[in-house]
Amino acid sequence: MRKKIIKLKKLRLFRGIKNEESGAVVVIVAVALVVFMSLLALVIDLGIAYLDTGEIQKAADAAVYSAGRQLPVDTEDTPAINAIKDSAIHYASLNGSQNLTRDNISLGKSVRNKFTDKYQFTELKVTITKSVPMVFAKTFGVNSIDISRSAAAKLSPVNRTTGLAPIGLTKTDMEARIASNQLTQLTHVTLKYGVHDGAQSFFGALDLDGQGGGANDYRIWIAQGYEGEISVGDVLLKEDGAMKTPTYQGFITRYNGCTHFGAQTGGDGCTIDHFDPNCSRIVKVPIYSLGVDKNTVVVEGFAAFLLESQTNDGFITGSFINIISSGTSSGEDVTDTGNADFGVYGLMLSE
Ligand SMILES: [Zn+2]
Repeated sequence: MRKKIIKLKKLRLFRGIKNEESGAVVVIVAVALVVFMSLLALVIDLGIAYLDTGEIQKAADAAVYSAGRQLPVDTEDTPAINAIKDSAIHYASLNGSQNLTRDNISLGKSVRNKFTDKYQFTELKVTITKSVPMVFAKTFGVNSIDISRSAAAKLSPVNRTTGLAPIGLTKTDMEARIASNQLTQLTHVTLKYGVHDGAQSFFGALDLDGQGGGANDYRIWIAQGYEGEISVGDVLLKEDGAMKTPTYQGFITRYNGCTHFGAQTGGDGCTIDHFDPNCSRIVKVPIYSLGVDKNTVVVEGFAAFLLESQTNDGFITGSFINIISSGTSSGEDVTDTGNADFGVYGLMLSE
């Protein structure tokens, strides 16, 4: 009997202890669950916000990369500045971000345009901020968090490109023109083309593919640009033949190819005052130094000019311009002096 009672007491005692423990476990589990849920809420909400940062970064990159193709713009040209800003807003919205405003877009890196003497912006920067509503973290009083991402695109001199015309100017000549600081040396300039004989102000003929000249190839290269890639540092052969006739014919094709500003209906078409950046009258040429022997030249950079007129005895009139071109950029900033920068730029993300 005695044994039995003890057993029973033990059992009761044991039961009591068990109840207390399970009570504590419930409390611990409850607290842990709250902590766990809070962390989970935070993780889920931050995860959603993080996904959004990727989205707005993409929108910011697209905005500067698309609108940046309107660079450079004169620092005084408010309509052009507003147009580039509105274009950035447009491209950001196409990429899912409606939060970009003119206030969050800035133009920078002002450099003197060596061809017009006006200052120009050469970089576009945007910052997109988005308020991301919280779902779970709301329970803990956090209704939303702000995230923001920036992107910038800048012009940088092209150091490898396609589409060149097989004529060029010496770096010495080009730098002297830029250094002269006189628009008459850069706008409406008359140059002679044909075989380079060392004379100043001369568009020397070049054999871009090194295969020797054929007048037909040469005319096509003048009219449409050479399809191969040419890089700064490349050694090119001078063209032996005079090539005066194919050059003249190629330029006529280019000049008559303009379809802008009434060119096809008796108007002037593209001129230095107003031109379409894709116009066939824009000719991209290598700037070179003379090579180690008299038959070669070394590419130092690229320039572009707008074809204005020519005569059939080999004189051409044109104006040097800044253009955005396809190709690879050096990464260097735009300068107002030359030094491998003669006005042909690529657009690159700089941030
Ligand atoms: Zn045109």
